[in-house]
Amino acid sequence: MIQEQRHNLPIAKGKDALIEEIRKNDVTVLLGETGSGKTTQIPQYILESGLARNGIIAITQPRRVAATSLAARVSQEQNTHLGDLVGYAVRFDEKHDEQKTKIKYMTDGMLVREMMMQKGLLGRYSVIIVDEAHERTLRTDLLLAKLKEIQRKRNGKARTQDDAEKGKGKEKENNSDDSSNPLKIVIMSATIDAEKFSKFFDNAKILYVQGRQHPVKIYHSATSVLDYTDAALRTFFQIHTDSAPGDVLIFLPGQEDIESLQKSIQLFASQLPVSALGVLVCTMFAAQDHSQNSKAFFPAPSGMRKCILATNIAETSITISGIKYVIDTGKCKEKQYLAKASGGGFDTLLTRDITKSSATQRTGRAGREGPGMCFRLYTEEAFNSMSESGEPEILRCSLTSTILNLKCLGEKLEEMDVMDKPDRDSIASALKTLWLLGAIDASQQITPSGFKMSYFPLEPQYACSIVASSTYSCTSAILDIVSVLSSSSKLFVDISDQREAVSDARKKFRHSSGDHMTVLNVVRAYREIGEGESSKAAKSARKEWCRKHFLNERSLIEACDIRKQLVEVCRRVGMDASAAVKENGKEREEDAVLRSIGHGLAGNSAFLQPDGSYKQVIGQTIVKIHPGSALSEKKVAAIIYDDLMYTNQIYARGVSAISKSFFSSHPVFNQRKA
Ligand code: ADP
Ligand code: MG
Repeated sequence: MIQEQRHNLPIAKGKDALIEEIRKNDVTVLLGETGSGKTTQIPQYILESGLARNGIIAITQPRRVAATSLAARVSQEQNTHLGDLVGYAVRFDEKHDEQKTKIKYMTDGMLVREMMMQKGLLGRYSVIIVDEAHERTLRTDLLLAKLKEIQRKRNGKARTQDDAEKGKGKEKENNSDDSSNPLKIVIMSATIDAEKFSKFFDNAKILYVQGRQHPVKIYHSATSVLDYTDAALRTFFQIHTDSAPGDVLIFLPGQEDIESLQKSIQLFASQLPVSALGVLVCTMFAAQDHSQNSKAFFPAPSGMRKCILATNIAETSITISGIKYVIDTGKCKEKQYLAKASGGGFDTLLTRDITKSSATQRTGRAGREGPGMCFRLYTEEAFNSMSESGEPEILRCSLTSTILNLKCLGEKLEEMDVMDKPDRDSIASALKTLWLLGAIDASQQITPSGFKMSYFPLEPQYACSIVASSTYSCTSAILDIVSVLSSSSKLFVDISDQREAVSDARKKFRHSSGDHMTVLNVVRAYREIGEGESSKAAKSARKEWCRKHFLNERSLIEACDIRKQLVEVCRRVGMDASAAVKENGKEREEDAVLRSIGHGLAGNSAFLQPDGSYKQVIGQTIVKIHPGSALSEKKVAAIIYDDLMYTNQIYARGVSAISKSFFSSHPVFNQRKA
């Protein structure tokens, strides 16, 4: 059955020709309709052809959910256990085998890290497939730049004078077994920007896979839609009651909208007459665990219509069969760096209008298996005024983490051969942040602390807090806090119609210094339940405890995993992960924790003004403490915060009070005053 499915994919017909081209060329650009079989089949074809006899086939994805779910599918197609022949590696979660794994799905970020950490030529990979290249994530762009360089070295192409200069001295440490194993690069994309990739790789060969696309009838809203979840709900039930069987895929910007729409659909569906077709709602988003996400792939039981609520993950990276109707809200969430307003160096997730290219992809999802319909919850004028395609991340996201990693390699982003050059301001802003974190010195050289920070797969701000915590002997507590803050779902569930109950239930965790110590209190209380036991009773006790306190257990479970990995990194960089404040108890611990966090968040700090507002210490923006913060009803002299939220006001979230003396003893702030 599964082999028959494989055989019937559009890409199967071109198999031999594709392999022949990949064999002939060092770099190939492969373009093809979503769902034609690129991501799942190409690595298997390459494996079968023996092209990768000397190493692993890596295939990169911008999203971790895509990487894990595709690895699961392909390992099923190969009839093997996930983690044996086919494995994956995403941040904080890896499943592969040193000896057995030949096909490795991984995030672009993981491969970049591997490159940075090992400082070699990725010698154990024979073929590297950069998938979803059209998304142009910062890491994909960086990867493409480095792969170009690595391939030149490994495949022994004549190098230019310039390269020879730059490569001086580095060569010796690198030419271990790397040079004996040439590297093939395949770049895959779903949209029509192949030329740009081809040009970047010296006019690499472009191959096209013919997709199967049936006509899709598009309906636009007549007037503009104010509440897109409400409109999606109505549209869904219109389809459900009036239209022929076939599954529905609804595109929403994020988890909150998905969960709220899921509830409404289930509520209305339960009121339908028994004779009516049932509704099975499935959801798919990054923070959801793999087993939940994979439910969307199972066909609906007979007598049921499947309705999948997804983020733009279902746009090109994952294909679900059976879709006949698409409802497109026209919105997505996108990382955006607000350098000027924030002064710090954090990215913010903003809900925004999609691009024409996304709209077209979303529509296409309805026509994979037969004619379909797409309901756009925006007007035709709105579609016409959308921008053609997105801006690459390198032009709009924080470069802090990237530049730190490059510093470790002794490289400068501004000198690298990237597809689009970032502007000077954002490089300057990243350098400023790194200097503030003590990761680089005044002459922009990386410091010993900076080296340590780069080992942590975290935003440099949090890596800095961990590194700083060894000075204050509170690493264990900082790991607790940072793990929760790095988890992909929020710890505190907000239920707006039960605000008081929520606030009451959480009162006992609330710490007078603010949100960071509050998080620590929650983690500690959670850990005490069942003492980490994995018995069924302990598990359900923890679950019940979280429900009672309106806490998201998923976040705590994930944090626990993350913590383990951070402990491992601490060990590697020679830090004592169990360091804890022992004498003089609570007060000293609080001070130590806040100072450590403060080192990381120094750029995200604000002082109280005479009029009661807070003004940034760096940057001049006035910020308010978010009403959800433990500190929202207090006035303190100085605050630090995790991030800013932009609505009609600028809100600081994840806020803690910090003593003003922290700033006078801080090496950089102190220097600034002098
Ligand atoms: P492309 O990369 O060209 O968009 P894919 O290789 O991702 O195409 O998908 C090929 C086919 O494999 C799709 O039609 C989809 O139905 C199927 N598929 C992919 N992942 C899964 C999965 N987890 N479960 C079931 N089918 C899957
Ligand atoms: Mg794909």
